[in-house]
Amino acid sequence: MNIILLGPPGAGKGTQAKILVADRGMVQLSTGDMLREVRASGSELGKRFGEMMDRGDLIPDEMIIEMIDARLNEPDCRNGAIFDGFPRTNGQAVALDEMLERKSLPLKAVIELTVDEEALVGRITGRYSCANCGAGYHEIFQRPAVEGVCDACGHTEFKRRPDDNEQTVRDRMEVYRRDTAPIIPHYEAQGLVQRVDGMADIAKVETAVAAILDA
Ligand code: AMP
Repeated sequence: MNIILLGPPGAGKGTQAKILVADRGMVQLSTGDMLREVRASGSELGKRFGEMMDRGDLIPDEMIIEMIDARLNEPDCRNGAIFDGFPRTNGQAVALDEMLERKSLPLKAVIELTVDEEALVGRITGRYSCANCGAGYHEIFQRPAVEGVCDACGHTEFKRRPDDNEQTVRDRMEVYRRDTAPIIPHYEAQGLVQRVDGMADIAKVETAVAAILDA
């Protein structure tokens, strides 16, 4: 089963994707994570991606589509893919339709996590993660049990995404409104869109998402 998680930055797409990976063995296809890996490699391309990401700009469609197309050919994707942060433009949505058709991978649902944008700014600017294992934390909502020590692995160094500052977050939201929200009608026309309140707590969102997957 393949699904798309849609919603502005900070809506909880990554959190829900990780739950589905743990519970159902599905595969999280986060284009943001893939791009951060390329960036971390330090290559020329990675540097260019980094500059665009720090501005909150989108990476050109052709590169993203190529990345996803290649990743979808790997055998683990047969367990079900969760598209997280992709598609983000109409061009990407059309290309994904074509790819799924060509690879005989049907789309079960497009789950839109609906949110309050102002609350999201606080959610995003407060988030950080363990530098060792990647476990996610938040300055207000989810601190480690022992201050400064990762609950999952005991590591004491943490990191923040460079694009999680208020100005870039506001720019990323504007990009979402301008380029990504307009793809929703594309999926509405296919009868695939399901809405879930992304401001509810994580467990409630998880239950609502599970109900859609099991319907
Ligand atoms: P995310 O981790 O999904 O918030 O993505 C972080 C940044 O990576 C975005 O602000 C964009 O610069 C870039 N990015 C991620 N996914 C895409 C995509 N599907 N298309 C274009 N740019 C993307």
